[in-house]
Amino acid sequence: MNAKSQASTAGYAVQSATSSLAPFSFQRRSVGPADVKIDILYCGVCHTDVHITRNEWRGTTYPCVPGHEIIGRVAQAGARVKMFKEGDLAAVGCMVDSCRTCENCKDNLEQFCEKGAIFTYNSPDKHTGVMTYGGYSDSVVVDEAFVLHVPKNLNLAAAAPLLCAGITTYSPLRHNKVGPGQKVGIVGLGGLGHMGVKLAKAFGARVVVFTTSPDKVKDALRLGADEVVDSKKEEEMKKQANSFHFMLDTVAAQHDINAYLVLLKRDGTLTQVGAPAEPLSVQVTSLIFGRRNFSGSLIGGIKETQEMLDFCGAHNITSDVELIPIQKINEAYDRLVKNDVKYRFVIDMASLKKAS
Ligand code: NAP
Ligand code: ZN
Ligand code: ZN
Repeated sequence: MNAKSQASTAGYAVQSATSSLAPFSFQRRSVGPADVKIDILYCGVCHTDVHITRNEWRGTTYPCVPGHEIIGRVAQAGARVKMFKEGDLAAVGCMVDSCRTCENCKDNLEQFCEKGAIFTYNSPDKHTGVMTYGGYSDSVVVDEAFVLHVPKNLNLAAAAPLLCAGITTYSPLRHNKVGPGQKVGIVGLGGLGHMGVKLAKAFGARVVVFTTSPDKVKDALRLGADEVVDSKKEEEMKKQANSFHFMLDTVAAQHDINAYLVLLKRDGTLTQVGAPAEPLSVQVTSLIFGRRNFSGSLIGGIKETQEMLDFCGAHNITSDVELIPIQKINEAYDRLVKNDVKYRFVIDMASLKKAS
């Protein structure tokens, strides 16, 4: 623990897999020479927050303070900090550190750090000796190498989800060179999915949304989709066979992946970003016929996250959000699980002060 400890930080934590989020006070580390202290204004609510707080992926350590879609203002910058000063807008996504020396870190892919990326919450924190605590809190202290600049023209609450939902969809779309002349499928219209639609459209692709929620059709078209398929209707699915260059699957729950793989063209790729707790069963003939690819993707590196934020600034792309006070967070989790969010909850962190 650092000798000079900071004033107590207010946040919300879960204490076990079955407990609700509740007020929790803890200490952030003191601001080191390379650190930036950010007073948090907004934090998005990702489905990963639900998976981890409820220990659905196993491996959660309690107490757990979730939140990795963080936007705020710099309250303090360490002596050696070059890129931020007090009062600047600043953002933090899913990672706060990595080894910075392995091949993947050197390739600007810190999320795949060979020693293990330090995630914004639920990762061992070398500074405090406990786990990292996330953005459902009033402030965070992060090395400036993992802090991002926010384009000034964007609405801050609506920009917060870019830090996870934005980069998680931007990165595989870019990696797979999605652009004009391509037909791209986005499976699931939730937090990630609706960003996938906006970004794939901005890259110039023809976008088809696959949804299990017929009431989302109008929204999908408004968000930029060229076509919407009700994935529960077999006839509608069949019409799309062998036609996609690329598909991005954002579904958080168990579903039949083969129904989508067979919609790919020859050599097409379906990238999985949604992370259901239980394994998906792949019928290998869906891959063998058509030499199709099934792959995964994890968020994006820091350099690419900044590139994505700048792209969103230039194209005025943000998330469609429902702003909530932190006191409504447990209700928001229940609604997220019931697929009742259009399309991302964002916590207004000013509400934390009202609570205390
Ligand atoms: P979300 O807002 O809940 O969206 C998930 C969408 O999946 C829903 O809106 C729904 O879309 C669809 N869906 C839900 N249940 C379904 C079911 N039983 N069958 C078929 N479709 C269903 O969640 P999110 O925040 O976008 O996160 C999605 C997933 O991505 C989560 O598993 C999360 O942990 C993961 N994730 C991964 C990364 C990464 O780096 N790979 C990063 C962030 C999040 P429709 O109503 O349109 O069907
Ligand atoms: Zn996330
Ligand atoms: Zn590394």
